[in-house]
Amino acid sequence: MEPKQTVQGLPVYNPGKPIEEVKREYGIEHVIKLASNENPFGCSPHVLQHLLMDAKQTALYPDGAMRELKKKAANHLGVTEEQLIFGNGSDEILQLIARCFLEPGTNVVMADVTFPRYKTNCQIEGADIIEIPLKEGTHDLNKMAEAVNDMTKVVWVCNPNNPTGTIVSAEDVARFMERIPASVLVVMDEAYYEYVSDDDYPDSLSLLADYPNLIILRTFSKIYGLASLRVGYGIASTDMMSELNRVREPFNVNALAQRAAILALEDQTFVKDCRAKNIAGLKQLTSAFDRLGLHYFPSHGNFVFVETGVASEEVFEHLLEQGVIVRHDPSWGYPTGIRVTIGSEEENETFLNALEPFLQKRGKVHVS
Ligand code: PMP
Repeated sequence: MEPKQTVQGLPVYNPGKPIEEVKREYGIEHVIKLASNENPFGCSPHVLQHLLMDAKQTALYPDGAMRELKKKAANHLGVTEEQLIFGNGSDEILQLIARCFLEPGTNVVMADVTFPRYKTNCQIEGADIIEIPLKEGTHDLNKMAEAVNDMTKVVWVCNPNNPTGTIVSAEDVARFMERIPASVLVVMDEAYYEYVSDDDYPDSLSLLADYPNLIILRTFSKIYGLASLRVGYGIASTDMMSELNRVREPFNVNALAQRAAILALEDQTFVKDCRAKNIAGLKQLTSAFDRLGLHYFPSHGNFVFVETGVASEEVFEHLLEQGVIVRHDPSWGYPTGIRVTIGSEEENETFLNALEPFLQKRGKVHVS
């Protein structure tokens, strides 16, 4: 059996290495994972306290319309329930967008180094990919707008960008939206939205009234600490949701995930606390990078992209041997770049203690 042509030769997504696998392979007891931008502080205790009570309902299908979750989220965000769509992670929303709007002959515009699932989902639908190089690790919205042509259906903007962590500003986004034709969907992926504290970051929800061709994506996998349960969502015009709902599976978010997301929204103190700890962790890492003279992009998410001066594959292997899992990907085009998730203070320390002597030995940093 041969798959359809657009699927032939597609890369299979390579997720961050799991902790148990590294323990087994390297025979080490203590392993930390700073590879998938998960929340090192887990999820809200409020979720854990109440979630298991709902596990008794396993024989029943979940609420496919997600009424309670939509009500809660709509209230939290200040939008209507009809403006929301939930998915099995925001990964699924990306897939729905590609499935709904793309076909052979159409094209999409995206950054050349960004979240890889945009490209894969668009390729599966047979769309052509127009990739615009990042400018100093940041989306070049000017060039992206210029690249839009008659066959463009979707423009993907990852803000903050994964893997570089950079943001595009409110002013840049406002100018960009004015230039994008109403027939082209702009996807603003804000998976790391809750971590951002920069005043220049756009309030994208406020753009929805003027732009029915805008969809904003967010997730419960990052600051809310629910990656294992898979809940993400899109916010857009009611009309857009009607279209996307046509391609959505009827029960795409399971009952426990829906419940966990509702509970998670009820504990905004946890979110605030994680944001503050992340800012401190970012400072901890970047101060060390500054001291070591390493280049990194200004990050606004819960991860940092740093160039160590040593081949990323080697750094990755060395860190694994030390029980620290980070992320590298040759397709990023930064031969010495690694992406490290900001962990707890102790995890960050472990990472730095594993990195620094290695770079010193390789003569890449000065002995302090
Ligand atoms: N968008 C971005 C930018 C991401 O980094 C991720 C996960 N790493 C996702 C979307 C998907 O997240 P999830 O499916 O867990 O919501």
